[in-house]
Amino acid sequence: MLNLILFGPPGAGKGTQSEKIISEYKLIHLSTGDLLRSEIQAGSELGLKAKTLMDQGILVPDEVVIGMIDNKLKEHRDAAGFIFDGFPRTVKQSEALDELLSSYNESISVMIALVVDDNELLARLLNRGKTSGRPDDQNEQLISKRIQEYNNKTKPVADYYQNQNKFVAIDGIGEIDFIFGEITKAISKFR
Ligand code: AMP
Repeated sequence: MLNLILFGPPGAGKGTQSEKIISEYKLIHLSTGDLLRSEIQAGSELGLKAKTLMDQGILVPDEVVIGMIDNKLKEHRDAAGFIFDGFPRTVKQSEALDELLSSYNESISVMIALVVDDNELLARLLNRGKTSGRPDDQNEQLISKRIQEYNNKTKPVADYYQNQNKFVAIDGIGEIDFIFGEITKAISKFR
């Protein structure tokens, strides 16, 4: 299996690049943000609880997202691999993911980090907010909160994979196709 983590702050381009990676490598896309938004859409109890936190730009509890990923891994036992997008976002989530994958004799192949500075992120997210309909893309204060959550809780996840020699950082500013080219080069070194 090819199991990738696409890593980076909100607005780094993870969703855009995920689409290209999926069509190239036929991977199953697991975005915890998308899964949570589906729960909200469905009006489930989990969705209602998550919405309160998401609307404030705060991470939802680890157990919630780990449970969702566990279910999806079970659903797709015969997949060519997975692309994890927006997950893991804490070291606890990384440890849980390693455990889940090792129970299937699988592991993470590589984490690819998209690097984009805070000013560019803010501009991109405010722009995305004009069309995304996402309540958490609508104002500067909320976007800053999400970037702050990333800096405090999520950044240490990069060290976790760096310590396993499974980490590549790529400049996330530039042409979408050029960035995708850099990603495919990185993948070829780790598969
Ligand atoms: P995203 O679509 O990845 O930007 O996620 C939107 C929101 O969903 C985040 O601001 C969090 O509130 C929540 N969320 C998504 N993925 C996770 C995760 N792995 N851990 C905790 N919260 C998450």
